[in-house]
Amino acid sequence: MFLKRKTALVTGSTSGIGLGYAKALAGEGANVMINGFGDTAEIEKERLGLEALSGGKALYSDADMTKPASIAAMVATCAERLGGPDIVINNAGIQFVSPIEDFPDEKWDAIIAINLSSAFHVIKAALPGMKAKKWGRIINTASAHSLVASPDKSAYVTAKHGLVGLTKTVALEAATFGVTANCISPGYVWTPLVEKQIPDTMKARGMTKEQVMNDVLLAAQPTKEFVTVEQVVALAMFLCGDAAAAITGANLSIDGGWTAA
Ligand code: NAD
Repeated sequence: MFLKRKTALVTGSTSGIGLGYAKALAGEGANVMINGFGDTAEIEKERLGLEALSGGKALYSDADMTKPASIAAMVATCAERLGGPDIVINNAGIQFVSPIEDFPDEKWDAIIAINLSSAFHVIKAALPGMKAKKWGRIINTASAHSLVASPDKSAYVTAKHGLVGLTKTVALEAATFGVTANCISPGYVWTPLVEKQIPDTMKARGMTKEQVMNDVLLAAQPTKEFVTVEQVVALAMFLCGDAAAAITGANLSIDGGWTAA
C-alpha cells in the first residue's frame, strides 16, 4: 500500500478509465474523491467499494466539470474532508463526432470545458497544496488525439492537444517542488465513451457497426486490439511512484502503436 496517507482526486471517475484509476489508488491505500455523473445508487456502491479497498475514506463529488466554481468547491471539500489532494487525475471527458460545418457550437464549448479547461481549474486549486507539501502527482488523461487528428473530431482533438500544452507548462512551474505533471495518451480503450460514439460515426460515415470498429477505430491501431483500462491504470500507478519522480512534462503514449505510424 504505497499510497497510504495520500489523497487522490480523480475527475470523471464514475465510469470507464476514471473508475479504474480510483480503484487502483484506493487499492494502494489512498483516500479518494471520485467525481462524475451516473446512477446515485451505483455511485454509492462504488464509493463503499473504494473504502473497502483502501481501509480509508472515499467521497463523491457531483461537480460539473463545465463549472469553474463547482470545480473549486470540489477541491476545497476534498481538502477539508480528506486532506489536500496529493494526486490529481484529470480524466473527465466527452466526445462528439461531426464534420466541422455541422459541429454544434454548444458541443464545442462543452468539450473544451470538460476535456481541457476543467484540468486548468483543478490544477489551479490543487497545486498550491502540493507545492507546500513538496510532493504531488498530476496526471492528465489525454489521448492519441493529443498527437494526431482524425476527421470529425475537431473539438476533441483541439482539447487534447491543448491538454499537452497545459501539462508541459505546469510541469515547468512545479519542477522544483517535487510535483510532476504528465499526460497519459491512450489509443482506443473499450469503455462507454468509445461505445457511445459508434452510432454517431455510423451516421457520419454511412457505415455498419462492424465497419466502424474495424475500419475506423482499430484501423489506426496496429496491434488490432483495444487498449485495456487495466493497462492505462498501471501506467498511472507507475507515475505515482518514486521511480517516476524524474518523469515530468511527458506525454506517454499507450496506443498499440497508433502514433508510431
Ligand atoms: P467514460 O464515458 O466511461 O467516462 C467519462 C467520465 O467523465 C464519466 O465518469 C462521466 O460521468 C464523466 N463526465 C462527463 N461529463 C462530465 C462533467 N461535465 N462533469 C464531471 N464529469 C463528467 O469515458 P472513458 O473512455 O473512461 O474516458 C475517460 C477519459 O479518457 C476521457 O478524458 C477520454 O477522452 C480519455 N480517453 C479515452 C479513450 C477511450 O478509447 N476510451 C481513449 C483516449 C482517451
